[in-house]
Amino acid sequence: MTQLLLASRNAKKLAELRRVVEAAGITGFEVIGLDDVDEFPESPETGATFAENALAKARDAYAETGLLSIADDSGIEIEALNDMPGVLSARWCGRHGDDAANTELVLGQLKDVPAERRGAAFVSVCALVGPDLEDVVVRGEWRGSVIEEPRGDGGFGYDPIFVPDDELAAGRTSAELSAAEKDSLSHRGKALAQLVPVLIRIAELG
Ligand code: IMP
Repeated sequence: MTQLLLASRNAKKLAELRRVVEAAGITGFEVIGLDDVDEFPESPETGATFAENALAKARDAYAETGLLSIADDSGIEIEALNDMPGVLSARWCGRHGDDAANTELVLGQLKDVPAERRGAAFVSVCALVGPDLEDVVVRGEWRGSVIEEPRGDGGFGYDPIFVPDDELAAGRTSAELSAAEKDSLSHRGKALAQLVPVLIRIAELG
């Protein structure tokens, strides 16, 4: 069976990537994470765009392991912050991956910003790189707004302060949605959905 490497070191993001790929019902792949392969040094994320970073991560993973690899680069773009934090979302507070501090900083920055200018979007760009395959890059967006106080324990990152525009969410933050609800609406779910036909083709040729 072909191995499909989900190249993320963020455990919660990896769990989402794995769920969405597995829920798509694609057969013929054994889905694995970076913990299942020999450790290799992680290159710094130096790209100016989600696409550059996602491609770099997927190419690194493929070059190091020889396995068909998917990487995601994602973040939140906030209108009142001129679409920042963007590619800097994971380290907006100055430290990588401190979700609570990142969220608190954004709430402080938006303190006096009225509701009509609190629009935001989560963005995910996923890259698929592998043998006998031209690199594939897909993008998903999830629009909503940033609220004033965090709510909910699900998800990760900025989920407790993001209320999606979707009716299904009905005023809940993305941290208050079930995992399946988040996957069906999210930027990552939308990006990965576009990779499904490509993966099915690879599995058929496989
Ligand atoms: P990356 O590992 O550089 O792609 O970092 C992505 C960062 O964007 C995460 O650390 C989160 O802060 C944020 N982010 C991306 N996707 C989500 C999401 O689904 N919910 C909440 N925050 C997210």
